[in-house]
Amino acid sequence: MTRTHCPYCALQCGMEIGPGLAISPRTDIPANASGALCQKGWTAGELLTNGERLTAPLLHGEPVEWDVALDYVAERLAAIRAEHGPDGVAVFGGGGLTNEKAYTLGKFARVALGTSQIDYNGRFCMSSAAAASIKAFGMDRGMPFPITDLPEADVVLLAGGNVAETMPPFVRHLSGPRVIVIDPRRTQTAKLAWLHLQPTPGTDLALALGMLHLAIADELVDEAYVAARTTGFEEVRTSLASWWPERVERITGVPVYRMRQAVRALAAAGNAYILTGRGAEQHAKGTDTVSAFINLALALGLPGRHGSGYGCVTGQGNGQGGREHGQKADQLPGYRKIDDPAAREHVAGVWGVPADSLPGPGRSAYELLDALGTPGGPRALLLFGSNPVISAPAAEHVAERIASLDLLVTCDFVMSETAALADVVFPVTQWAEESGTMTNLEGRVLLRSQAVAPPEGVRSDLDVIAGLAERLGHRFETEPVKIFDELRRASKGGLADYSGITYERIAAEKGVFWPCPEPGHPGTPRPFLDSFATPDGRARFVPVQHRPAAEETDEDYPVYLSTGRVLAHYQSGAQTRRIASLVQAAPEPFVELHPDLAEELDISPGDIVRVSSRRGEGKAVARISDAIRRDTVFMPFHWEGANRLTNPALDPTSRMPEFKVCAVRVERDS
Ligand code: SF4
Repeated sequence: MTRTHCPYCALQCGMEIGPGLAISPRTDIPANASGALCQKGWTAGELLTNGERLTAPLLHGEPVEWDVALDYVAERLAAIRAEHGPDGVAVFGGGGLTNEKAYTLGKFARVALGTSQIDYNGRFCMSSAAAASIKAFGMDRGMPFPITDLPEADVVLLAGGNVAETMPPFVRHLSGPRVIVIDPRRTQTAKLAWLHLQPTPGTDLALALGMLHLAIADELVDEAYVAARTTGFEEVRTSLASWWPERVERITGVPVYRMRQAVRALAAAGNAYILTGRGAEQHAKGTDTVSAFINLALALGLPGRHGSGYGCVTGQGNGQGGREHGQKADQLPGYRKIDDPAAREHVAGVWGVPADSLPGPGRSAYELLDALGTPGGPRALLLFGSNPVISAPAAEHVAERIASLDLLVTCDFVMSETAALADVVFPVTQWAEESGTMTNLEGRVLLRSQAVAPPEGVRSDLDVIAGLAERLGHRFETEPVKIFDELRRASKGGLADYSGITYERIAAEKGVFWPCPEPGHPGTPRPFLDSFATPDGRARFVPVQHRPAAEETDEDYPVYLSTGRVLAHYQSGAQTRRIASLVQAAPEPFVELHPDLAEELDISPGDIVRVSSRRGEGKAVARISDAIRRDTVFMPFHWEGANRLTNPALDPTSRMPEFKVCAVRVERDS
């Protein structure tokens, strides 16, 4: 039996892999100590024996030797760099990569390629919550408390998260508190809730402002906490004057008495949490929306108190660690800023290069994809752990940009939709075939141990990077434990300080919370108990104002589209759409629409429906349900189609695209 963790979501459930690749849950990992796994976790072993596994590098579709593929890519990269400069080459990573890979990828881009053009698909995931947390608390650690604190709370408000489908074992941690869900759909999570607020898509920010307005008007603010632990409340109080509840009801569709019920429950609770998920965050105003929910949490005195707080429910497997160690356009390891001279000096010292040789910040994920092949944009793209042809907004446009490249290289273990467009595909190892660390949604660093040998012909992403680096004149490490030791030194003194964490400690202690600045340090499960990570130790209120969605409905596109996940699939589906039992559970994309809308459009259950936006169209099977608002349709994004429609309007701070709301036309397909 090998003790390891699930390959999928940020809960990173503990599991054991036994003979015959039998999966069983571990009971020593708090996230799923109840012995729970979801359908995806139980079937994860099937990924390892998948018949569609790639086992030889492909050069223009033909199998070749590793050296042939590596030589070809290195020569093309050198030629493109010589012609277009270092920024002619771009790197795109993923929130599912181990910390060791994310770190190595950032170093490879800056040191071996010298490019500023690196970002990752986590930008599409938690970046708005991260940006808002940094503004308020000076630090982004998704949930700054152990998940096992949640059951002790009296009330948990979950804004835009459907954990009952995305990470079902999470629900067991919500069995104690009264749960309030904010979601335009009556999701599986909303069905479990004590109270469900069902706003118009794109209006969560107005709802949060209205709730704080009510808290102030009803004298529910924790004035002593606000005075002792925060700054900026008066400015926020003033900024809320125009967000009276009746106005908010008109904008959001949520009745005032429901808003008041939610606010009073939170205020009356001895302990309470406010959590946000992608539903609130994936908007062109996602950062401000999260800031508004954090303002509410601060006004009620929740963050930095044992048993209460604000947290972001991170989605991707290593969504947390993946955003800490340098694969973001503006970042160096340890959650350091790439434009901070002291940070550059420290990291350059660890890397053995001059600080002024490191490039500055590059383009964010969508801006990078949008620039591919354009004048002044990258001409080559190296892609690790991502499938943007399915998962990026305006996906058809992104596919066109990718097709215009001089060189596309992907590392995949199956032929994803993006890999199918590549000049070179490197067949790489997957979760149980390699070791590495993952940082889960609590900020707990976990060890995912190798359980089986990879198939012949397959190598790690780390081998690909080292092989290319060597051909470009640099030596890169391939042993995960040695890379982690270097990461520890690079992160030392940063916000996400891993320097006291070792593989041995993780295994012995079942995970260690960062920051952990010394070998003898116990780790930091609740980092804000004494003070926040701001210069004065106080949390900051951030005044924000609601504005409409980037694209509102009109005569041509009269219905809102919202996108999301289903239980059986993960992200772009490249993995889960290859597992027979998961395909059986959720075989095809669908469009969920309200019975009234279906009747108006003459659509019956099972009809093929064409959904069009200004960016493209997708087809899917109709599902009629009164769980969705009448003015909204829902599509899961695990298949081609949903993201052809979504709007790449970006949040000005986080550069998060507006995945969660756009205007569409819905018709029965003739
Ligand atoms: S997908 Fe998430 S919830 Fe499901 S078993 Fe894996 S880690 Fe646990």
